Amino acid sequence: MVAIIYSADFLHHETGPTHPECPARLTAIVTALRKMPGANYLHWQRPSPVAWNLDPYILRCHSQEYLNKLAKLAEEGGGSLDVDTPVSPQSYDLARLAVRAWLDAVDHALSQQEAAFVLARPPGHHAIRNTGMGFCLLNSVAIAAHYALTRPGVERVAIVDWDVHHGNGTEALVENNPRIFYCSLHQFPCYPGTGAAGDRGKHNNVLNIPLKPGGDGHVYQEAFEDKILPFLRQAKPDLLLVSAGYDANRADPLAYMNLIPEDYGMMTHYLMEISPHLVLGLEGGYHLPSLAKSVVETLKPLLF
Ligand SMILES: [Zn+2]
Repeated sequence: MVAIIYSADFLHHETGPTHPECPARLTAIVTALRKMPGANYLHWQRPSPVAWNLDPYILRCHSQEYLNKLAKLAEEGGGSLDVDTPVSPQSYDLARLAVRAWLDAVDHALSQQEAAFVLARPPGHHAIRNTGMGFCLLNSVAIAAHYALTRPGVERVAIVDWDVHHGNGTEALVENNPRIFYCSLHQFPCYPGTGAAGDRGKHNNVLNIPLKPGGDGHVYQEAFEDKILPFLRQAKPDLLLVSAGYDANRADPLAYMNLIPEDYGMMTHYLMEISPHLVLGLEGGYHLPSLAKSVVETLKPLLF
């Protein structure tokens, strides 16, 4: 079984008619999951309601000033944080619901010994302490990592970020904590320009793997075997979080890597070796058919 943490409310984060980070991304994934082989073993769960007690966890990563600004923008009918990052009237509440979904997934993966996939938007891995950017509002994966360290029995957490873009926000929000390990594979050069191989974090707890445009599944396989798996084996995480973006697909319009959907199953396979407690959550991925098929391929090794 795999838990899918999802709410149709996430469709109401509006980004405008031409934005690649659109509600149809979720609809495409939901449709594909409902009819995938093994669909009966997907356990659909709604995120729990957002309550006041979520705030201390969010404030571990974001400033109160930024939250106030986001809330005000949404309340006043929407706006944008930068040229890429719109905020619609419901976006602040939905970004908080996305955080809630990630924390529920952490609880689920720890208590049920069953992987969880968070199907939420807006995404989060570019959001830094004082602002969202790059389609992202609140950094759910970083908040989830810090939250996980408050759970019984969790001493160390690792994050693998296979979105084609470097998770600049996540790295910045976790690198000061020697109990959180972050590794990212990303096209380089590419947005947002961070993630050089020499950036290893304050405690040698960061592993950046910049990849030349055009690399395929073999490049990712080699990176896992030579670098990521040794890094994770040494980290010995009690919980593994995945920033699962799907914009490294060959068909994706935003970048130039050459993965095919089956390559994501290969990466899941590798990660299952590292920890039985696995939480994956959607970041990017903008070619809808490839996106939907890739999420299916990501989940297959966890079901069969
Ligand atoms: Zn991305």
